[in-house]
Amino acid sequence: MRFDLVTIFPRLCDGPLGEGILRRAIERGIVDVHVHDLRDHTTDRHRSVDDVPYGGGPGMVLKPDPIFRALDAIGAERGTALTVILTSPQGRRFTQAEAERLSRLEHIVLLCGRYEGFDERVRERVTEELSIGDYVLTGGELPALVVLDAVARFVPGVVGDEQSVAQDSFSRGLLDHPHYTRPATIRSASRSGERELGVPDVLMSGNHAEIRRWRKREALSRTLERRPDLLDDASLDDEEAQILRELKGARHGRD
Ligand code: SAH
Repeated sequence: MRFDLVTIFPRLCDGPLGEGILRRAIERGIVDVHVHDLRDHTTDRHRSVDDVPYGGGPGMVLKPDPIFRALDAIGAERGTALTVILTSPQGRRFTQAEAERLSRLEHIVLLCGRYEGFDERVRERVTEELSIGDYVLTGGELPALVVLDAVARFVPGVVGDEQSVAQDSFSRGLLDHPHYTRPATIRSASRSGERELGVPDVLMSGNHAEIRRWRKREALSRTLERRPDLLDDASLDDEEAQILRELKGARHGRD
């Protein structure tokens, strides 16, 4: 899968793309990422990418022409029908389901804004507008990298164990179950004194059916507790539906 990012701060992308799973996926050619410097698509001596807003007021606005030229260059160089995503707090909310949908595309372009954002006419060339949450950041690089990271995890071969992606929070409309690793017991000093923290017995039991059921129960009870809104659209198997009824019954009894 191919990603093209257009930014005025290309070096901002080096860190996140240069480590861990994304780095390995790029090295192996499973994802192909090009970061384009918007200034390379300017025509004036000062390589200016922004200008004052028509009508006055604070802040600067990203000029449309360098962005159009960058998109033309990407289209000419990399071909294919482009999905052009504008990062913006005004966009549709980016979710795990959106990440999975985008991972089925061959090629996406992510436009990173700065200042007050883009000249409105840029939207002419944009196929979707995505927001990573209801807050405003100084630039679109972090949102573009958030989208790239979440989408890339769904590209086959990027995450070693594909089962782990399927089990992640949100993938089936549930939060993930808790995870434990060695050591089996650990001492921890907290405000209430020193305590020995263990691991649930069932995880050490070797009984795989029990472990699976415990994980389902934990995932369901966490989701019920923290994000009950997710349960409306969750796809549950018969066993999970049964566990959920029990959990709700127990809660009801408590109230
Ligand atoms: N004036 C704009 C905000 C500009 S913030 C407005 O109120 O809508 C500058 C840039 O940061 C934006 O162009 C966008 O690329 C990026 N950005 C900021 N917050 C974002 C968010 N929550 N999701 C996606 N992109 C965001």
